[in-house]
Amino acid sequence: MDTVQHYIGGKLTSGASARRAKVYQPADGSVAREVVLGTRDDVDAAVRAATAAFPKWAATTPLMRARVMFRFRDLIEQNAKKLAAIITDEHGKVLSDALGEVTRGMEVVEYATAAPELLKGDFTEQAGRDIDAFSLRQPLGVCAGITPFNFPVMVPLWMLPMAIACGNCFILKPSERDPSASLLLADLLKQAGLPDGVLGVVHGDKEVVDAILEHKGIQAVSFVGSTPIAEYIYHTGVKNGKRVQALGGAKNHAVIMPDCDLDKTVDALMGAAYGSAGERCMAISVAVAVGGIGDKLIETMAPRVRALKIGPGTDSTAEMGPLVTKVHLDKVTGYIDAGVAEGAKLVVDGRGLKLQGYENGNFIGGTLFDDVTPEMKIYKEEIFGPVLAVVRADDFTSAIKLVNEHEFGNGTSIFTRDGDSARAYMHQVQAGMVGINVPIPVPMAYHSFGGWKRSLFGDHHMHGPEGVRFFTKYKAVTSRWPAGIRAGADFVMPTLA
Ligand code: NAD
Repeated sequence: MDTVQHYIGGKLTSGASARRAKVYQPADGSVAREVVLGTRDDVDAAVRAATAAFPKWAATTPLMRARVMFRFRDLIEQNAKKLAAIITDEHGKVLSDALGEVTRGMEVVEYATAAPELLKGDFTEQAGRDIDAFSLRQPLGVCAGITPFNFPVMVPLWMLPMAIACGNCFILKPSERDPSASLLLADLLKQAGLPDGVLGVVHGDKEVVDAILEHKGIQAVSFVGSTPIAEYIYHTGVKNGKRVQALGGAKNHAVIMPDCDLDKTVDALMGAAYGSAGERCMAISVAVAVGGIGDKLIETMAPRVRALKIGPGTDSTAEMGPLVTKVHLDKVTGYIDAGVAEGAKLVVDGRGLKLQGYENGNFIGGTLFDDVTPEMKIYKEEIFGPVLAVVRADDFTSAIKLVNEHEFGNGTSIFTRDGDSARAYMHQVQAGMVGINVPIPVPMAYHSFGGWKRSLFGDHHMHGPEGVRFFTKYKAVTSRWPAGIRAGADFVMPTLA
């Protein structure tokens, strides 16, 4: 059986650990390969390789780093289908969606090609008499990223192009559930001219994560995953003196106003709730039906949910693939059981779906609940499956109150034709990413991605301008040359007049 190895110092290695995890094919439940589960020694080896590579890489010009990113970008484009096939094989999402993921990741590489512009700093001539002041941003050193299963290409690409273009070395710890794409990305970067050691990939579970968080040679940690782990990563990383950005889970609400274009809104909700089987941190999992539109919404959606085309990700007609693992399938099914037990109205039940020829696959049908209330578990917790909960609200004010009182604040959308409602929603809502008639408002690479409340721990969103800030240290310089130096000692606080 194939084994997915670490990538350290430009070479594949299994390290010394005998521990392995199985990597499954979600469509038929078979074991595709296994992945090595690393140790502290593997993390240490990657940090040593990165530390050795750092001085030379940090000394390259931003323009040279940008050229590596240009080549990397082209190689991603040339290998997009290969990357997408790996994603579908291990994650399960349909191929067209996997290709979309590759493109959204590539856009961050495109942003990183602007490294000379992004890092050029500010200059003030004559901040004081004969004194100039300028500021610059310098790399941190060795940084690390820990990523979730649901975007095995895009999320690593939120982090590593930014870190590397800013002059850092980077160690990636991918999800052990779909680890293979990370090695193709590493290979493409090597082909693009990245020196060995600048990027390392160490596979593993908690042992590797804890080794990263505690390693003195690592300056900063980027994390994307579930909220309990994000909170743990943030506190442990900070306690160990690191800069940390930790993006967590979500429960994204769409507010459906009575004046919306219902057909287009239902189109948007179908993709946002059931695309990628709901395994997106920006999936819409709650629809708040305002002022009596609920009945019409349910009536229009229910037949569409029943008609969803579900199949293996390789079936080009499928709209939704399987869930990632059997364990996750059981978890999502358990949430639907809980919703029924709590008294929510199950309009479409996706449980127990079996596809001919794929009886052992992790398939579940689209599920639609009505009359969900805020105290229910299916409202409070992230399900991360193809389950949409419809909540009724009397008016705009109670709808936005509901959204703002939820513990998560990743993304949210409003569907309306009314500019006043849209403006008020955008202004008042407590969430990091807002869509106006846009169901999944994932920011472009030149903006930044991140949530509020318990969807993000730390100060910085990811990629875009926030990514540059996260992966660099700010330095302010005040400079005067001998001709401008006044005679005598100054004992007062200097003021630059
Ligand atoms: P997860 O939290 O289980 O795992 C994420 C990473 O943490 C993996 O690399 C995993 O190996 C590691 N990990 C898991 N348990 C750990 C532990 N006890 N100690 C240390 N490390 C541990 O998340 P997942 O199931 O892979 O991904 C789905 C979650 O990620 C969802 O909650 C989703 O909302 C979230 N997510 C958030 C965003 C965002 O931008 N906010 C984006 C994508 C996914």
